Amino acid sequence: MPTETLEYDYLIVGGGASGLSLAYHIAQEPRLAGQRVLLVEPDAAKADDRTWRYWAAGETPFAAVEGHRWEQLVVRAPDFEKVLRLAPYRYRMVRAGDFYAFVDAALASRPQQFTRLTGHVTTLAEAADGHGAVAALADGRQIAARYVFDSRLPKLARDPTRYRYLEQHFLGWEIETDYDVFDPDTVQFMDFRVPQHGQTRFVYSLPFTPRRALVEFTVFSAQVLEKAAYEAELRIYLAEYLGGRPYRVVAEEGGSIPMTDHPLPDRLSAHILHLGTRAGRSKPSTGYTFARVQRHTARLVAALAATGHPPADATGDRWQFGLFDTLLLDIMQRRGEVVRDIFSQLFERNPVQRIFRFLDEETSWLENLKIMNSVTPGPFMRSIGQVLRGKPGRR
Ligand SMILES: Cc1cc2nc3c(=O)[nH]c(=O)nc-3n(C[C@H](O)[C@H](O)[C@H](O)COP(=O)(O)OP(=O)(O)OC[C@H]3O[C@@H](n4cnc5c(N)ncnc54)[C@H](O)[C@@H]3O)c2cc1C
Repeated sequence: MPTETLEYDYLIVGGGASGLSLAYHIAQEPRLAGQRVLLVEPDAAKADDRTWRYWAAGETPFAAVEGHRWEQLVVRAPDFEKVLRLAPYRYRMVRAGDFYAFVDAALASRPQQFTRLTGHVTTLAEAADGHGAVAALADGRQIAARYVFDSRLPKLARDPTRYRYLEQHFLGWEIETDYDVFDPDTVQFMDFRVPQHGQTRFVYSLPFTPRRALVEFTVFSAQVLEKAAYEAELRIYLAEYLGGRPYRVVAEEGGSIPMTDHPLPDRLSAHILHLGTRAGRSKPSTGYTFARVQRHTARLVAALAATGHPPADATGDRWQFGLFDTLLLDIMQRRGEVVRDIFSQLFERNPVQRIFRFLDEETSWLENLKIMNSVTPGPFMRSIGQVLRGKPGRR
């Protein structure tokens, strides 16, 4: 029996944050209205299992599904506390379920252009004629496309002698109280007043109303913890923060985000490009991904619309920011507890807008120098030595 081959202009593998973001940006680009897009995702109904937090100035494509916006941010450490006004930025939150529904509706309104298929892509290869790529599905079907965009999470062949591998792992409780206690205008970016245990540990809180907040205990380290360990930390923290008063846990969010300087290239080959975490869009030193995914997919779509092809440099990454990420990862891996001082100094001595621009990799050399001058150089100097000697070290 001949194998069925489906033909499309673009095949998007995976309907998570990056696959759906690419589809959404394509749907918004009139010059690509004639391109037929197939999106393959194994989960027929994706779970509302995460919230995406990010900062942005001005309007964003997903303003309609923003669950909350914050105008200020607070950073706390044992002997430091600073509240910072974010304008023109705002800190934002989008719940995954709302994002999926919003993009689903945008794609469903263009049935000629977008087709969705529930299935597993098993293999991808360049087409024999050199004019596109072919994908095989687990059910035996084949798909031919001019370009494939693959967002399956990468399986890394780890090389700890050359690269650093950490996880940002966390458990968050969305809690409710019967009394006013939170400031819904102020996101608590990092509260380092928790024992560090030689790692980078902090509590991050998103207050939605004076009586409701998501409070997350977060660790940057190589190994995730038992669930009970996060729960114990949250209980201790909340007892202190709320002065022993009661609260109810109404929802829970846990997860782990890879933080690594292992190379994650923007493509496999000429017609098979990468997206999301697979394309290195999780910022190695912070784990923030969502806004980087938006910039990457918007850049791909702009080039496809203008030239018919993805850009030669799909991410636009600049090497010096990769070096900063590596240095921070190295410090986290060797002496995680000093990250508390580095972040406290950063927020004490720089406008938050400069820090956001730095983390967005938009700062100039001069601004980078100001950032580097604002923190104690010792840990960075030691890490530069380690990195130059090619030693992703232990403590
Ligand atoms: C709990 C949690 C909270 C997070 N919070 C934030 C945050 O606040 N801010 C932020 O910037 N980042 C956050 N992140 C990190 C990052 O934004 C997410 O991990 C994001 O989902 C990554 O997008 P992605 O498209 O690379 O991967 P995913 O969203 O995981 O999408 C990959 C998709 O590929 C599909 N797939 C897998 N195998 C196949 C196959 N064989 N064929 C076809 N499809 C396949 C999967 O089902 C999935 O839908 C968070 C991560 C987690 C886990």
